[in-house]
Amino acid sequence: MTEQNIKRRLPEWLKRPLPAGNCFSNTSDTINQLGIETICTNANCPNQGECWSKGTATVLILGNICTRNCKFCSVTKGKPLPPDPTEPQRIAQLTKELKIKYLVITSVTRDDLPDGGAAQFRDVINTVRQSNKEIKFELLVPDFKNCRDKALDVLSEALPFVLGHNVETVPRLYAKARSGADYQTSLKLLDKVKKLWPDCPTKSSIMLGLGESDEEVQRVLEDLRNVNCDRLALGQYLKPSKHSLEVVEYVHPDKFAFWGNLAKQMGFSWVMSSPFTRSSYNAHVE
Ligand code: SF4
Repeated sequence: MTEQNIKRRLPEWLKRPLPAGNCFSNTSDTINQLGIETICTNANCPNQGECWSKGTATVLILGNICTRNCKFCSVTKGKPLPPDPTEPQRIAQLTKELKIKYLVITSVTRDDLPDGGAAQFRDVINTVRQSNKEIKFELLVPDFKNCRDKALDVLSEALPFVLGHNVETVPRLYAKARSGADYQTSLKLLDKVKKLWPDCPTKSSIMLGLGESDEEVQRVLEDLRNVNCDRLALGQYLKPSKHSLEVVEYVHPDKFAFWGNLAKQMGFSWVMSSPFTRSSYNAHVE
């Protein structure tokens, strides 16, 4: 497919209603009042209307400035601020006010911190748990490329219900989409997590529509199963900002259904595969 073809109109299956309703406003007001960042807004997630109307949001810790420069992502790049010690308590308050039972926490990549930011993940979990004993956490962590062992050591003090790390795309497209990362490093992180904590499900996600071939997608699924990754999310890449990579293809929902079925046959225990799937989308649904 040529670059010109991508300028065609959004297919019907990718049109969504605008966010509205009391619950949406309540979620939005609470997040704003507590000064919490979300990946929902920072990444211009197309599901924000749906998720926030159900009182669900994915918190983005460690600020909203990332030390990497991934071209699929709209999060601001630059020099981040030091971790905010008030953040864990503010997130605890959020879970109380929104009565959150399942919280997905992610962060920008913090290559500037000696533990990659792992201590902030730990502190958020432990602080929230003090007042919300039943809550389940799903972490979506960066690759901790310079500090994997140290980061995992820190995380061992606050294990989540699910630990995710996204490989995001097929290895051939890393140079274009995820230039500061390395596919094998991401796989090794998932492998190490599973070996350390076999009872903690691991999860990964890839975006389709960046120009990957079917063979490449299948190979990624095989690689993920080879490191015993348990959960898989597959969604359509949508250009989140004018500086982001162009969409190469709008993948038909039937193709997502095909990948979803194949993934289940391959042994993933939890699979979500649809154009609007994101790694945190309906993460609580078993
Ligand atoms: S899918 Fe995830 S990132 Fe998107 S709006 Fe829902 S919770 Fe936020």
